[in-house]
Amino acid sequence: MLPPRDDLHFWLYDWLQADTLAAMPAFAHVDRETGVAMIDAALDLAASHFLPHAAASDQNPPKLVDGKVELMPAIREALAAYREAGFFGMEAPAEEGGLGLPYTFVAALGGLFSCANVATNGYAFLTQAAANLIREVGSDEQKRRFLPAMNEGRWFGTMCLSEPQAGSSLADLRCVAEPLPDGRYAIRGNKMWISSGDHEIAENIVHLVLAKIPGGPAGTKGISLFIVPRRHVDAEGKAGARNGVRLIGLNHKLGTHGQVNCLLGFGEEEPAIGELVGAPHDGLRGMFVMMNEARIGVGIGAAMTGYGGYRAALTYAKERRQGRKPGERDATTPMVPIIEHADVRRMLLKAKSFAEGGLALCLYAGRLVDEAKHGGDAEAQALVDLLTPIVKAWPSDYGQEANSLAIQVHGGAGYTRDFPVERLWRENRINAIHEGTNGIQAMDLLGRKLLGDGGKAFGLLSKRVEATLAAARADAALAPLAEALAARWAALGPAVLKAGKVAATDLELALANAYLLLDAMGHAVVAWLWLDQALAANRALAAGDVRRAMLEGKVAAARYFIDWELPTKDAVLARFASVDPLCRDLDPAVL
Ligand SMILES: Cc1cc2nc3c(=O)[nH]c(=O)nc-3n(C[C@H](O)[C@H](O)[C@H](O)COP(=O)(O)OP(=O)(O)OC[C@H]3O[C@@H](n4cnc5c(N)ncnc54)[C@H](O)[C@@H]3O)c2cc1C
Repeated sequence: MLPPRDDLHFWLYDWLQADTLAAMPAFAHVDRETGVAMIDAALDLAASHFLPHAAASDQNPPKLVDGKVELMPAIREALAAYREAGFFGMEAPAEEGGLGLPYTFVAALGGLFSCANVATNGYAFLTQAAANLIREVGSDEQKRRFLPAMNEGRWFGTMCLSEPQAGSSLADLRCVAEPLPDGRYAIRGNKMWISSGDHEIAENIVHLVLAKIPGGPAGTKGISLFIVPRRHVDAEGKAGARNGVRLIGLNHKLGTHGQVNCLLGFGEEEPAIGELVGAPHDGLRGMFVMMNEARIGVGIGAAMTGYGGYRAALTYAKERRQGRKPGERDATTPMVPIIEHADVRRMLLKAKSFAEGGLALCLYAGRLVDEAKHGGDAEAQALVDLLTPIVKAWPSDYGQEANSLAIQVHGGAGYTRDFPVERLWRENRINAIHEGTNGIQAMDLLGRKLLGDGGKAFGLLSKRVEATLAAARADAALAPLAEALAARWAALGPAVLKAGKVAATDLELALANAYLLLDAMGHAVVAWLWLDQALAANRALAAGDVRRAMLEGKVAAARYFIDWELPTKDAVLARFASVDPLCRDLDPAVL
């Protein structure tokens, strides 16, 4: 179920030119040999420690035993092996004792662990994202006390934003942070849906909590960010007695059962002491450091969960025999493997184009993060900002669709627990919901990212698309695909401009159909990246590369996506451009 090495090398080296990352001083140590060794180590560990318990931990969700969360031992063992291999610190710089890998690799390797077991990887993923936040916005003292144990994976991390009454609307948070004489804060309130929120598999849990300091501005401008550890942390960075953070109850979820998710109470019976991160009332900015990375991570998890389904379906389709070719009337001839049927191949190609398309989008965003953060490239930062809502939402919609197709390829067997595809489908369903629902992402894309900067970032993106189109026009096999994409790309700008004009007088109407734009633009962006990959694949084929089937598969998927899927969004974009007030004006009584 894991991606083959050849595919990983194609994405990272043939297409994204990951060798060139070593030109950045921060990544001078990540030469080709190191990069390939890291991929191999992650593939081995994912296969040996993450994949084997994925089905079992789905069937054995966390239990509350004597007030403590009990998890399957295999989860602890997998994370211990992950710790041993140094992967908790894969993004941490060498001066912090980490591996200092580029985010492009962090994204790819994290994706491998997600593909093998997205629930177990959730503990590691949140820890790395929390450590990054402290690295970016924490004080030197906080970095010194918290990062070493988090980079080593002895302490885990969480993000505590949501409350029972405030999910999408963070402005309505009620968690309070009362200043204490010693400069710290007493945190009071509940946090809902906290992934990895309570367990016994780490020495400490570092909760990053959003709360409001009394007297601050109303709404999101009054939100501050706090470190609230499960166990108090002293000046030397040692964990001591329990803090007043208590588990109130476990949530029983549709999927990702291995990753505990719970309601936490802060300061209920004893004080929950927190320390401010960054400036008072500036907490959302800090939390977005974590959330933006988490959103790319959600995209990767979604694409990779879809990919796992696709690979499982591919294996099944080669083994399962059913029926004969149309025209074969002799029932004594052997039945053919179902992959011989055109409709099964259609489903597989569609699933491949969605899962790998989403993955390419996330890896591309990963490379932009490196260029922005370590190459000082402002254009790359503008592009990451623009693309993040698409990176989060598109793979979570279409990775899920790949999982659904994988079930369909299995027929009745896909609807049972005997095969992994139903689990993967359940596991992927969360990705359209958490880290900001896809509906919220759509409004962010249109309202903030496209209209908010007057189309500047979109202009930069269009230049990159133009460069790919120009190269593809020079490749006879790809020129028709370039024309098909060029026409669709050209339609995006006028549709957004029209929404911008409406927004000037009626913001609610302009944003009402934002999801349609996210959907159509997501397809156009993924089509562009498929065309770009097809160019890379054709270059390798022309140079006599022996990985023919893999490379031809990329070209076939590009052709499928651009010729078969992209046109389905013409009507979606036209509906968006029509600024139809149907949903905005609908009387809720008629629903
Ligand atoms: C398994 C799981 C893990 C999670 N992990 C974490 C975690 O670790 N930390 C954390 O803080 N949170 C976590 N969450 C919470 C998650 O981020 C929220 O569920 C999500 O933000 C949505 O909030 P909500 O559930 O309150 O839904 P609501 O905000 O009530 O939304 C319900 C529906 O209304 C729509 N909607 C809401 N407001 C608007 C609007 N203004 N315009 C248009 N549509 C709107 C939404 O898109 C959605 O479809 C997790 C959730 C789950 C289920």
